[in-house]
Amino acid sequence: MTNVFVGLGSNLGDRVGSIAAAVREMAATEGVRVLDVSSVVESEAWGVEDQPRFANAVARLDVRGEADAFLGTLKAIEERLGRRPGVRYGPRPIDLDILLFGDEEWDSPELTIPHPRLLERDFAVTPLLRLAPDAVLPDGTPVTRENAVEGRIVGEMGPVPGFGGPG
Ligand code: ADP
Ligand code: MG
Repeated sequence: MTNVFVGLGSNLGDRVGSIAAAVREMAATEGVRVLDVSSVVESEAWGVEDQPRFANAVARLDVRGEADAFLGTLKAIEERLGRRPGVRYGPRPIDLDILLFGDEEWDSPELTIPHPRLLERDFAVTPLLRLAPDAVLPDGTPVTRENAVEGRIVGEMGPVPGFGGPG
């Protein structure tokens, strides 16, 4: 089993409901255990500016199997929850990103781990640090908010329904 952090985002429709549904889908997946889910933050749109604010959270999981297979699992969940191919970085009902996969590094067009923009994104770093204050990248770099200047958090939206924890 590998300790995995997944970033969840939504800026279309019932944003918190979509995040909760994605966590339920991950929890129902064979070989995946949801250990912990952060509270939901509201963050500024990034990439394409003229779009609604995002709701974001981070989940900590135990995952059996390889990272590329797990990416396939996440893409299938995105599709089931109504994600359709569209503008890159544009509005979406759900976006699931692998932020960290144990201490593994992957670098291919389909999969880069750690997520290449993790440290620039407040909406990813801040919820991750709430779950794992001592998180480090595979190369030992500590995860900090120092460079997290994109997608700044502008509000708190409370726990993910059904997964309310201290984070
Ligand atoms: P973004 O999340 O950057 O807005 P998409 O969700 O549309 O963009 O993802 C585009 C592609 O990014 C996916 O099809 C996937 O193959 C690739 N990708 C590369 N690294 C990762 C990762 N760590 N987690 C999720 N997707 C990734
Ligand atoms: Mg994505």
